[in-house]
Amino acid sequence: MTAIKLENVCYAYEADGDKAAVNAVDGVSLEIEEGAFVAVVGHNGSGKSTLARLLNGLLLPDKGSVTVFGTDTRDEKNIYNVRSSVGMVFQNPDNQMVASVVEDDIAFGPENLGLQREEIIRRVDWALEQVGMSEYRKSTPFRMSGGQKQRLAIAGVLAIRPKVLVLDESTAMLDPKGRREVMDVIHALNKREKMSVIHITHYMEEVLEADRVIVMDGGRIALDDAPHAVFARGAELKKFRLAPPAVTLIADALAECGADIPRSVTTEEELEEAICRSLSKD
Ligand code: ADP
Ligand code: MG
Repeated sequence: MTAIKLENVCYAYEADGDKAAVNAVDGVSLEIEEGAFVAVVGHNGSGKSTLARLLNGLLLPDKGSVTVFGTDTRDEKNIYNVRSSVGMVFQNPDNQMVASVVEDDIAFGPENLGLQREEIIRRVDWALEQVGMSEYRKSTPFRMSGGQKQRLAIAGVLAIRPKVLVLDESTAMLDPKGRREVMDVIHALNKREKMSVIHITHYMEEVLEADRVIVMDGGRIALDDAPHAVFARGAELKKFRLAPPAVTLIADALAECGADIPRSVTTEEELEEAICRSLSKD
């Protein structure tokens, strides 16, 4: 089933003072299947965040249409359904917290939905479990690591029970450990809960772990393909200010020298295993 469908979507920010109008999203057509894990990349100002906000009705298209599980986002009486179907996680976890105790923070979304207390508790339990933070339910988020805070931000969104999770550079402010924590959580949600994930990032290693990657350039989709197919374009990627991740470069270089390394390796661990396997054959 199609989760989200965009047909020829345009969105422009109006001119403001000496700033000219910008066509931030400029004729994007796109279909995202339920259960897909899609990475979105592109240089600063290429339209990624605008695209993200169009996906759940935070912004409405000037032209074209955005449909979420069959509902047009411009349909005012269904905007509530659209917003709860597509959850958004942003870059800075500190800006996404509303309460000083973890469980109150996670309960905020379901409380606003006007749910019964038992249901709220069930959802808080479930959401914390999904992000591996159950033992922190009575803690305060303020002293936590960036990765933990971002996992709580994800739990807060999960408590609304969205079918699609959109992460707008949610790993950008984290250290490598925190990034791994967040990636593990969103991959688990994708696999276990069949949640569709749209992950905007500038880390190319994270792109390798997606099913599909969309490259944005000047408000348009420049490339839309499997990560390996996109990275195989080599120098052409410079046009979009992108470069393949180190794992891909190393795997390709070794394969070129005749080593038996599959070009599909996605993580450092897989690369290490492939190298060891290849060496022990000789
Ligand atoms: P990205 O997330 O890829 O960096 P954005 O969607 O934030 O791209 O921005 C796309 C274009 O729209 C850029 O030229 C940016 O300057 C412009 N833009 C983004 N937000 C606003 C805004 N609130 N007002 C005016 N222009 C904006
Ligand atoms: Mg952005």
